[in-house]
Amino acid sequence: MENSRQPEVDGMCDDKPIHLNGISREMFELFLEFMFGRMHTGSHSIDELSKFLRFCDMYQCSHACEFIIFRISTARYRFHPAKLINLAIKYHVRSIFPYAFQQLAETPITELTHAHRELMGNEVFLNVIYIQAALDSHRRIVAAEELKILMHSNKCQDPTGCNEDWHAIWWNGMGRFLLDGRIPQPYDDIVKRFKELQFGCVSEGCKDLMFKILDQGAAFKHAEQFLSETCSFLVEKLVFEPASVNHRALSRSGQRAMCTAWSLLASSLQ
Ligand SMILES: [Zn+2]
Repeated sequence: MENSRQPEVDGMCDDKPIHLNGISREMFELFLEFMFGRMHTGSHSIDELSKFLRFCDMYQCSHACEFIIFRISTARYRFHPAKLINLAIKYHVRSIFPYAFQQLAETPITELTHAHRELMGNEVFLNVIYIQAALDSHRRIVAAEELKILMHSNKCQDPTGCNEDWHAIWWNGMGRFLLDGRIPQPYDDIVKRFKELQFGCVSEGCKDLMFKILDQGAAFKHAEQFLSETCSFLVEKLVFEPASVNHRALSRSGQRAMCTAWSLLASSLQ
């Protein structure tokens, strides 16, 4: 169309698009899909979800952020835990932190790359190292120091043999399962496998008594508690509640206005 009097400005036609620095066309299309309820239910890639969260956070679209966080939470097993930690800290999402931290505690240090370390930050990385060292030492102590039979059941015919076999089965079963570097297993699975072993001269009554003590957690629960307390400490320190970052929100009033403007722009494209 010829119109020399009215210069064409960005957004007037397809040939003159509005340029939004740092925002890809795909991101804007995801935004439109979300705004108008057409976001496809199939799985988005990890990269798409992360970038979209960044986009919605930048323009303070809180409903969209909540929706994407929900999508990330339900697909959390597809993300590397270091990436989840990064998202949790950056976008103040406490709910995904414990799962990610637990996964990191179970990931061999040699499998964590420099990039993973950059993503989770030094503080989390150092805590992962300390917690792995502490849990490893705890496992070795539990493996070598068996739960002692302090009182035999009334029907125990041979307390000495009962003690000796319990000691041998603990070391050959529990000890081996706990220290097996090739097949590392969580405590619950180890206890389950241990109970399936043959207990020789250990009387049924004594065995039941000791299993009850095992089921109560005994030494095993200390590891879980240690992990969960370290995790809570890091969450408090690193993942601020959105309410505590109001100063950030105030400095973004312009961006909020931009988000509203985009909603209007999106409506006009319908
Ligand atoms: Zn006994």
